[in-house]
Amino acid sequence: MVRAPLMSLDEATALVLAQASRAPLAPEWVSTLEAQGRVLRQAVVSALDVPAQDNTSMDGYALNTEDLAQWPQCAPLKVSQRIPAGQVGQPLQRGEAARIFTGAWVPPGANAVAMQEDCELNESGDLRVLKSVTPSQWIRRQGEDVRVGQAVLNAGERLNAASLGLAASVGAASLLVAKRPRVALFSTGDELVMPGDVAPKDMKPGAIYNSNRFFLRSLLLQSGCTVTDFGIVPDRREATQDALLAAAQEHDLILTSGGVSVGEEDHVKPSVEALGSLNLWSLAMKPGKPFALGEVRLRGEQAHAWAHFIGLPGNPVSSFVTFLILVRPFLLALQGASRVQVRALKMQAHFDWPRADPRQEFLRVRLNEEGGLSLFDNQSSGVLTSCVWGDGLVDNPPKNPIRHGDWVRYVPFSELGV
Ligand code: AMP
Ligand code: MG
Repeated sequence: MVRAPLMSLDEATALVLAQASRAPLAPEWVSTLEAQGRVLRQAVVSALDVPAQDNTSMDGYALNTEDLAQWPQCAPLKVSQRIPAGQVGQPLQRGEAARIFTGAWVPPGANAVAMQEDCELNESGDLRVLKSVTPSQWIRRQGEDVRVGQAVLNAGERLNAASLGLAASVGAASLLVAKRPRVALFSTGDELVMPGDVAPKDMKPGAIYNSNRFFLRSLLLQSGCTVTDFGIVPDRREATQDALLAAAQEHDLILTSGGVSVGEEDHVKPSVEALGSLNLWSLAMKPGKPFALGEVRLRGEQAHAWAHFIGLPGNPVSSFVTFLILVRPFLLALQGASRVQVRALKMQAHFDWPRADPRQEFLRVRLNEEGGLSLFDNQSSGVLTSCVWGDGLVDNPPKNPIRHGDWVRYVPFSELGV
């Protein structure tokens, strides 16, 4: 049998992103309070300056530094008004100061604030300033955060806690974001058993628990998707096709794990091919390798109903890593995100990796206390412990042996939304 050459990850990524970008999900308005993790589809432009006016960053006294020109030989200032945050004071006359509280607008005529710790009031209630005051001291300037007309958030940004706060600070009560990807998830394999259905002591020979379902569902939710869990699909052509047809309705993506090799028990490939189209790739990636991308379409009057299809390998670590490296960018691109690739950090390897693979490898590593990376000792694609022990991946180019002390590309799991 002639082996097809492996497909590079760069090429696979380009094809995955091209398919997602062909049909981005429609946008919808959601409350800013509920927009965590969503991808913004319309810029948020501010209709005001933030802060709206010069205001004080300290509790103290607003004053005019010219009245303190001879400091410390200067007359006490008359405290003529009191301005709590949210209230607007009167213009300040020369020789006067205003009692003022953090966030309150600085009244016209004042050019600085003396903090209360640096002030005292004499018997007649007039203000003596104990430290010299420079113009602009403790004043937050109008527009120093945001200018009117400024786009504070751009289309394509994924909203996080800070961006929701910034949107709220310019008065945006709702945001136009991509709809959540609706994902149908199923696991294939007759050997699979759901935890809870069979106790460990009663497991039949050859049976294993379905672990992929748990982390894939979790990763999908973390990527902003809604998940319909179709559970375990038996290794039979008809059952696989029925599940695909049911899932193609009202879902944007059908995600499966297992069954995408070309063994006799791998029914996913022929089933998807019968209902739509499928490209099965051997990726130059480790863990990973089999990966399928295609679509499933209903027939006849329902031909408008279709869904993207992605088939992940069955080995747990392969499934986990392939999700992070290919499915996550796909889901972000589907939502119109402008940044779908992760940022890698340059870190020092505190391990040796002499047997470099011809494929691009993703090694499970952990940041150590010396500021370098330690390697999990079993990098097998079935050892899920490595993903729990590790806090990220080393993205190692093909055929690149690593020596202790070498600089490597480290992608923290936090960058990948894990
Ligand atoms: P397959 O891709 O179906 O040939 O599966 C490859 C390996 O991954 C086999 O050892 C399967 O038993 C295992 N596997 C497949 N699906 C799962 C799953 N959902 N959870 C845990 N292991 C799985
Ligand atoms: Mg299988």
